[in-house]
Amino acid sequence: MSEPATGYVSGGSVIDLIGNTPLLKLEKIADIPPDVEIYAKAEWLNPGGSVKDRAARKMVLEAVRNGELKGGRSIMDSSSGNTAIAYAMIGAALGIGVTIVAPENINTERKKTIEAFGAGIVYSDPIEGSDGAILLARELKKRDSDKYFMPDQYNNPLNPLAHYETTGPEIWEQTGGRVTHFIAGAGTGGTIMGVSRRLKELNPRIRTFAAQPAEAIHGLEGLKHMETSIVPGIYDPAGFDETIFVSTEDAYAMMESMVRREGLFVGHSGGAAVCAAVGKAQTLESGVIVTVLPDSGMRYLSEKLWW
Ligand code: PMP
Repeated sequence: MSEPATGYVSGGSVIDLIGNTPLLKLEKIADIPPDVEIYAKAEWLNPGGSVKDRAARKMVLEAVRNGELKGGRSIMDSSSGNTAIAYAMIGAALGIGVTIVAPENINTERKKTIEAFGAGIVYSDPIEGSDGAILLARELKKRDSDKYFMPDQYNNPLNPLAHYETTGPEIWEQTGGRVTHFIAGAGTGGTIMGVSRRLKELNPRIRTFAAQPAEAIHGLEGLKHMETSIVPGIYDPAGFDETIFVSTEDAYAMMESMVRREGLFVGHSGGAAVCAAVGKAQTLESGVIVTVLPDSGMRYLSEKLWW
């Protein structure tokens, strides 16, 4: 299912390791009806450590193919974390420069990982959060349009397409076509939009859900409270069935339970996705629910979440 990187033999590049992640069965995290199963895609096992490797690969390889990245241009985009690391890794593997625009308060793990790959960081005002980074990236592109290729993950249809082409079919195959419900946290919306479209084509009866933070000011890194944010161009609630709102407190409790009871050291948004999945499971008589664990808790160790 993984797309081969331009110019590399199969298995010859880290880029070829993106995707085809395992599907785990979650059995101990909550009491759910006996005929309901919950599965989760272990996306932190991607080589860049998150689900965002998939979208970054698609957007960058397409730009290599269509010439947008020719002539010494570098990749420049806003991201507060996982996409930034994915661009930095892919840029290093392809010998392409990377500049990341991110709020100044992103944690040390992110800063050090991005810089370890040789990418540069331009900081935006931490008070303005990820929306501030989006606006600054647009300004840099306007100022220096020849220097940068800006994938614009929030508005680039290749972002959901990556999930339509890889994550969706993987879930279908790994469940043997038994999946009945799909739930993903929404940041750019790439995962929910792309997987939803693919699964509904394969079986129109499959129900799909976006998980969103319940509060405008939340601690669910990577997810967006759409009502109070710049809504991504690729995000369209018509592409899935419903939104499930999850509080930061419930997501953190679930995250801790995942670590202690399943041995799965997931990040905040994984806790939110599983919270939504368990809530849905408790309303069903039978079903096969699939969700996504976007990254690892290791990415947040300095944030005093673990004590
Ligand atoms: N969780 C985390 C930790 C993320 O970094 C992201 C990406 N912003 C998401 C979830 C949401 O993924 P998507 O952008 O595909 O909606």
